[in-house]
Amino acid sequence: MEERNINLAIKAAPSPSCYLCGSPGEILHEGIKDCFLDTGQLWNVRLCSNSSCGLAWVDPLPMEEEIHKAYQSYYTHSDIGLGYGGRIVRLYQYMRIGYLSAKYGYFKDHLSIWRKLAGLAIYLHPGRRAVIDAQIMGVPAGGSRLLEIGCGSGRKLELLRELGWETQGVEQDPNAVANCVSKNLDVSCGALKEQNYKDDSFDVVIMSHVIEHLHDPRATLIEIRRILKPGGLLSMTAPNINSLGARYFGKAWIGWDPPRHIHDFSPVSITALVKSAGFSEVNITTTINNANYGYMSSNDILHDRGIQIMRWPKSEKLAGLIYQLIMWFWLKFKGDIGDEMHVSTRKS
Ligand SMILES: [Zn+2]
Repeated sequence: MEERNINLAIKAAPSPSCYLCGSPGEILHEGIKDCFLDTGQLWNVRLCSNSSCGLAWVDPLPMEEEIHKAYQSYYTHSDIGLGYGGRIVRLYQYMRIGYLSAKYGYFKDHLSIWRKLAGLAIYLHPGRRAVIDAQIMGVPAGGSRLLEIGCGSGRKLELLRELGWETQGVEQDPNAVANCVSKNLDVSCGALKEQNYKDDSFDVVIMSHVIEHLHDPRATLIEIRRILKPGGLLSMTAPNINSLGARYFGKAWIGWDPPRHIHDFSPVSITALVKSAGFSEVNITTTINNANYGYMSSNDILHDRGIQIMRWPKSEKLAGLIYQLIMWFWLKFKGDIGDEMHVSTRKS
């Protein structure tokens, strides 16, 4: 049995109405435990009663000054190895650049024909392709300055730097910042607003699975819009509450992740949010990125056995890959079934 840590209980207040439209919310899922750190607290997910809105959120709402307690053992902030040896990693990295060149235009005129051909092999593996697309957040070549908000251990920034971007990062977790600095990445500790970036500073801002953690996501998007150059790109990802995973696993879906996920978005609600911050054209796709890990984690939650990160048995890994393949196939017919949403928009 997991140990409970009552000292880490998070103060929270009832949150009956919608952040986006003010309508009351109906309970969608009741009594969800924190799947990483069991404090004995239970959380609900509410869904906005306004059917044209579609926002979901955690209730009760954790107090902003208390939420750091929920990130004590958060997994995205340390380096997790692929578990493969050097030669395979080098071959993979060789192919990855070839793929990124073909798809996103990086090093187009400087790459050998062999590397371009090796890159094409990545197209044969939809799951790997989705991971690589997500590693660079779908950012095409062109432009110079790129900022990642909530950069964790800095893996995306390292790759984007390798692709020629002048990268900067902001991160709240001091341990993760220290990890980034040890890799010579330019990363500041703290919140975005505290950095006081100048107007029109960046060609690109990326945010991977951050927007759902924010108490006031609109304020962050307004700040991003201010610091983007005209025509600059915002690219972000978030879990999709219309997805196969949300439907199949119900309250056990990892994408709810209370109390860390404050708001849970659908393509419609995230579009409304982004537009409310002043952006006009919003492009949404849903993807199979890490859907296999989502499957394995949600299955652990469903069976109440604690998430077995990187310790899953082979049979479970196979089931995860089959689930991901089903999602890939289904996406051909139903565009919003992917577990992850990729949202991109430009400052006009
Ligand atoms: Zn609403």
